Amino acid sequence: MKGGLVSESGVVLLSERRPTPRADGPDAVVGAIRDFIGHLAASGAGGPAGVGLVVPGLVSADTAIYAANLGWDHVPAADFTRLDVPVMLGHDVRTGGLAESVLGAGRGVSDFLFLPIGTGIAGAMILHGEPYGGSSGWGGEIGHIPVIPDGERCACGQFGCLETYASAASVGRRYSLRSGQEGVRAEQVVSSDDPVAVEVWDEAVEALSLALATYTLLLDPSMIVLGGGLAEAGPALFDPVRTRLVRRLAFRDAPPLRPAALGMDAGMLGAALLGWRAAGRPDLGPGWTVDVRPEPMVS
Ligand SMILES: [Zn+2]
Repeated sequence: MKGGLVSESGVVLLSERRPTPRADGPDAVVGAIRDFIGHLAASGAGGPAGVGLVVPGLVSADTAIYAANLGWDHVPAADFTRLDVPVMLGHDVRTGGLAESVLGAGRGVSDFLFLPIGTGIAGAMILHGEPYGGSSGWGGEIGHIPVIPDGERCACGQFGCLETYASAASVGRRYSLRSGQEGVRAEQVVSSDDPVAVEVWDEAVEALSLALATYTLLLDPSMIVLGGGLAEAGPALFDPVRTRLVRRLAFRDAPPLRPAALGMDAGMLGAALLGWRAAGRPDLGPGWTVDVRPEPMVS
């Protein structure tokens, strides 16, 4: 868990990490969050105006509806704090996308896709400047778009999902399977020129370009923001994906690919935006100057 105290002017006054006591059960995790928020609140001068909390799974602004890996089932927002302040909950990836929209790579852009590629592949569709979760909160599951008909079985139960071919974990796993070498990380596969690595990476790039072409044709984004661990590969990821995306689209231009700007801080900064929204200050954020990690722009 990562938490922080963020002032009205966007200054991160305090930022801390704590382990998630997942093994102790759903209630213990809620209790640990309650303690963490209490600790952060006590560290500031005066109490906080609001709390923004980003959680995985299905979530609405006032309920953590369902999180398989934490065992949560309809936990109300009020359970997460003893402080008498408004609380707003947000979905982890969509809130990261909100932060990239207001403070990061998507600043000044109304419609884009935020796609963190790490252990899995998630997506936040930013429409009119706001993340869109669909009718039931499942919107944006780009990692589970079937890109290969009758392809490999995904952990989700479907076949041929993007995530099965192109997540960092899948690239490492698929390389190990074919080469017989255990424990090879995606970054090593990307930067290796042995034929098996080239083949596995080629299939990952192919799968990504298919999914991004689909997204582009459906929603006409003005840019695609790639983040997560695999985006650290830089040109080794961006260049081939851009080339294939351009090649796939015949009658329209491909949107530019950009690296995410906020890195690991996107979730916490997005939570701060939610906290201020809960406190009745939806105007805060656009004027903030955050300490953005310098990264090369890729056009
Ligand atoms: Zn899947």
